[in-house]
Amino acid sequence: MTVRVRFAPSPTGMFHVGGARSALQNWIYAKQQGGVFVLRIEDTDAARNKPEWTEGILSALDWIGISRGSYEGPYFQSENAGEHRAAATRLYESGRAYYCDCTREDVQARTGSQYQGYDGYHRDRGLGPGPGHALRFRTPDEGTTVVVDLIRGEPTFENKLIEDFVIARGDGSPVFLLANVVDDMTMGITHVIRAEEHLPNTPKQQLLWDALGVKPPIWAHVPVVVNEKRQKLSKRRDKVALEAYRDEGYLAGAMRNYLMLLGWAPSGDREIVPWSVIEDEFRLEEVNPSPAFFDEKKLRAFNGEYIRALPVAEFVDACQPWLTGTGTIAPPPWQPDEFDADAFAAVAPLAQTRIAVLSEIVPNVDFLFLATPLIDEAAWTKTMKDGSGELLDDAVAAFEVLESWDAESLKSTLEAVGAERGLKLGKTQAPVRVAVTGRTVGLPLFESLEVLGRDRTLTRMRAARLRLP
Ligand code: GLU
Repeated sequence: MTVRVRFAPSPTGMFHVGGARSALQNWIYAKQQGGVFVLRIEDTDAARNKPEWTEGILSALDWIGISRGSYEGPYFQSENAGEHRAAATRLYESGRAYYCDCTREDVQARTGSQYQGYDGYHRDRGLGPGPGHALRFRTPDEGTTVVVDLIRGEPTFENKLIEDFVIARGDGSPVFLLANVVDDMTMGITHVIRAEEHLPNTPKQQLLWDALGVKPPIWAHVPVVVNEKRQKLSKRRDKVALEAYRDEGYLAGAMRNYLMLLGWAPSGDREIVPWSVIEDEFRLEEVNPSPAFFDEKKLRAFNGEYIRALPVAEFVDACQPWLTGTGTIAPPPWQPDEFDADAFAAVAPLAQTRIAVLSEIVPNVDFLFLATPLIDEAAWTKTMKDGSGELLDDAVAAFEVLESWDAESLKSTLEAVGAERGLKLGKTQAPVRVAVTGRTVGLPLFESLEVLGRDRTLTRMRAARLRLP
């Protein structure tokens, strides 16, 4: 039997990192089993779906390594509406489902208590189809539904505790629970690997499989992803969109490596490993069922490691979208014709060891391309203390006559200027850095000055001097 898995996102918002994690797990599982990965866009909730969200899912999957053309689909759930309805009719005709026109208030009035589920009132009243008549599944009164779950063992549900749930609304439209089952069935899905949030749906869905006469799939409910407060990651509160991480300059390799560590780890205490190792060693059965902490700090650190591991030329390429402003990435503060690729190439190795996400390249190198640096006023005030003006005067005088404009000479010259005033190099550097780059932190100063060149360096130091008493 060929293993067939599917990833079935709903296009109702930005693509969630938890979704990306499930997609990757499905992807690897299919690959390991020599199976097929199917992409199905669950777009039946017309009010909440937007085509751009679908496009966002496809491009985010592509970015993370699940590339268009290498999977089956995308299929669109809305295209299968006929089959969903046919299944609802079949369940009705076989007596496994019945019509009901009760409102919640009706049930409450009958049971005289808080609504705790449907009371089965219409089970045997023979109500036929009609406007406002919902179709309910007749759940078994006895026995248990045992779900075979690769991660969670065999969660067992008492059938008598499962209410007669709605499978088609009063307007005849089948609900998610049924549409999802019918699609999985039609698409020959053998393993459903999805988020833990769906576990409560699973016994109901398995009953539907049984009632429709098809052997249910094997399930695997992967852990919920939580923030540092152990709250489920939410798009209102947390940064959850894969696209946001991509645009900030996370590398796809770092991201997918990190996502696979949510609830699982490769052998030998390693965390940063080549994708091929993950594809080899990942075992769905080994995924820890408890909530998985999405640690953004750790992801950042990971990304820094991935950035440092790039050959410099690849790093230079990877920075391009932030240097030019591509797609959804904001343009940098300099004009395109101010950019100097050689100057960038000269400082790229210095930047590569210092940034954790690619977007940080911009504030590190903008001083090289802007006609005048962007001065961080708080940094200016903090750094330009009494004596900074004179210090800059001396430094300008020394730099003007410097024979060779190279990092080494710049450093020893400035060191000597500071020593005359009894200042250590750090204190001497600070006003020069703020004058030239506008910031207190950044790339190594002397290499930066070497690349910036004598004229521009001196112009900026003189301009800063004029602002000082
Ligand atoms: N469309 C559902 C969701 O986005 C997924 C359902 C499933 O994987 O079975 O949560």
